[in-house]
Amino acid sequence: MIFNAGLKNKRLSILAAASTTSSSPTAGKKFDFIIVGGGLAGCVLANRLSANPDVSVLLLEAGVNNTSRNIKIPVAFTKIFRSNLDWNLFSKKQAEVSDRQIYLPRGKVLGGSSSTNATLYMRGSAGDYDSWGIPGWTSEEALRWFKMAETNADLKDSAVHGSKGPYHVENPRYHNFLHEKFFEAASQIGVQSNPDFNDWRRPQEGYGTFQVTQEKGVRADGYRQYLKPVLKRSNLQVLTGSNVTKVVFDGSKAVGVEYIAEDISPMREIATAELNVGGEVIMASGSIHTPHILQMSGVGDKNTLAEFGIETVANIPGVGQNLQDQPAVLVASPLKKELDGKSMSDHIYNPRGRIRKRAILQWLLFGRGSLTSTGCDRGAMMRTDAAKDSAPDLQIRFVPGMALDPDGVSTYTRFGKFQQEGRKWPSGVTFQLVAARAAGRGSVSLKSGDPFDSPSINSGYLSDDEGRDLATLMNGIDIARQLACSESMSSVLDGEMFPGENISSPAAKEEYIRKTIHSSNALVGTCRMGTSVEQGDVVNSELKIFGLSGIRIVDASIIPRIPGGQTGAATVMIAEKAADMIVRGVPAAKVDPLEEFCASDPSADECRVYED
Ligand SMILES: Cc1cc2nc3c(=O)[nH]c(=O)nc-3n(C[C@H](O)[C@H](O)[C@H](O)COP(=O)(O)OP(=O)(O)OC[C@H]3O[C@@H](n4cnc5c(N)ncnc54)[C@H](O)[C@@H]3O)c2cc1C
Repeated sequence: MIFNAGLKNKRLSILAAASTTSSSPTAGKKFDFIIVGGGLAGCVLANRLSANPDVSVLLLEAGVNNTSRNIKIPVAFTKIFRSNLDWNLFSKKQAEVSDRQIYLPRGKVLGGSSSTNATLYMRGSAGDYDSWGIPGWTSEEALRWFKMAETNADLKDSAVHGSKGPYHVENPRYHNFLHEKFFEAASQIGVQSNPDFNDWRRPQEGYGTFQVTQEKGVRADGYRQYLKPVLKRSNLQVLTGSNVTKVVFDGSKAVGVEYIAEDISPMREIATAELNVGGEVIMASGSIHTPHILQMSGVGDKNTLAEFGIETVANIPGVGQNLQDQPAVLVASPLKKELDGKSMSDHIYNPRGRIRKRAILQWLLFGRGSLTSTGCDRGAMMRTDAAKDSAPDLQIRFVPGMALDPDGVSTYTRFGKFQQEGRKWPSGVTFQLVAARAAGRGSVSLKSGDPFDSPSINSGYLSDDEGRDLATLMNGIDIARQLACSESMSSVLDGEMFPGENISSPAAKEEYIRKTIHSSNALVGTCRMGTSVEQGDVVNSELKIFGLSGIRIVDASIIPRIPGGQTGAATVMIAEKAADMIVRGVPAAKVDPLEEFCASDPSADECRVYED
């Protein structure tokens, strides 16, 4: 599918269907910017870079157009797992996780993973960004771009939140009495409340509400907020179903890309897109695919590339290393019989597994109710004795609904079977326990020389020598049990489904963790920003790849160390700052008078440097 200025999409798809390599949608054209990947960062970049009508921008996305209702309705993200909107990636088998392959969801659609995610808006803490130690990327600078990007519907303190940006943030619009029970329980075990997890003036620890990237109960993803409003620009061409297989280099200079549009070329003919002189390829394919495409293009560890018969363009061993995620396990309990029918799943489905009309009407008419929630929008950040520094190592996501499988994601597959049998989803609650600042490091590397083969992924779970991540998750199970046994929660819960009361010794808990650990979907770090190739870094502070020209990386893969929040907010911050560096040609750390002024009042009109 092609989108372009003023033309009807339908007509264009017919045009596209007739195209061959020589008459591909990009044949005979040159672009100032070719953005590889129309995910969260890609949508931000497409908007900001095409704001100048004199600049031509091409956005290539492997996935489909963003039209699914399952994207728009937040609760329906569970239906996207393992669907055609997902890359269906798995790690390789690893001993640390009982020889399991970990499912790693990634969005394959305009908007990328922001269109398939849980919509939590959590920036992490100031220390996360300061720990990167990179001039121009301090917490102060990051805060400026967080605010610039944001419109917060509910939190108005301008020292912390923005009010004029495209990225829409609000309080969750579904409430269940179990949320109160959780808050009371947290208070009963001695946790303080935290009214705003994104306010860096107070410690990140505490229990409370996680804000969400939604607008009146509708998902506010990269596509809807950044790309859709500018699709009519005549200088922006967006191609979906276009799988970039390679960046083309002339020596060390990127000059374009090769891509295959399978829908229009079942024989997988290669099409090319070329850069204008002085143009740039911008890699925005996310933490798995950006390093994979680079490796396919000859940018990576020269020995590995040689193994797969790929000629080295730049020997950068850090490409694909340093993969980080936030691994998770869960504790789940059923509600007492007399409370049956009170959990979130009961507010969505009737006892025969059909969606309730009331839930649909609440969403359609008021943008409220159970369909607006991805389930995990209340919780806590806690520092356990496994924490490395003063920042919390554990995130607890409280779900007022019961997991049906100890691997959270498999719950939805299991429920599908319940539905077929006309059975009811049991009422209960779940504590998802997330190692928020995990120490384990994995990698992404080539499995073969075929660009359509998924990469070989080592999740890195539980791989840290000191065993901190395991300790965090063990502590998490203990804390969840304390919460469940508190006066408030014990009044509503009836025993424990997962791990199960018989799992009590340290050895049994460890085995449970290794057998059920799953992703909480925060993959970052595989093209690390830093100072030198020798130290394993891939890009400098301007996000330019060391030793190459005409190419940058702008997505979650450049994050050196995972922030202890979710990763969407950080990705938008990175893309906003990168677009500014590219458009104005300023280095990361340069301070000019406008920047100084905007640092003190980022939402001032003068600071909206881009016109829509
Ligand atoms: C299930 C799930 C839940 C999550 N929950 C949250 C949450 O609650 N809060 C939060 O902040 N973050 C969450 N995240 C993470 C967040 O969505 C990501 O950090 C963010 O989207 C990363 O942005 P990105 O631009 O780096 O990558 P993406 O948004 O993943 O975009 C990459 C894009 O590149 C495309 N692409 C890949 N390869 C190619 C190719 N060869 N050619 C062309 N295009 C290609 C992909 O199809 C995709 O559209 C979640 C993620 C998932 C998957």
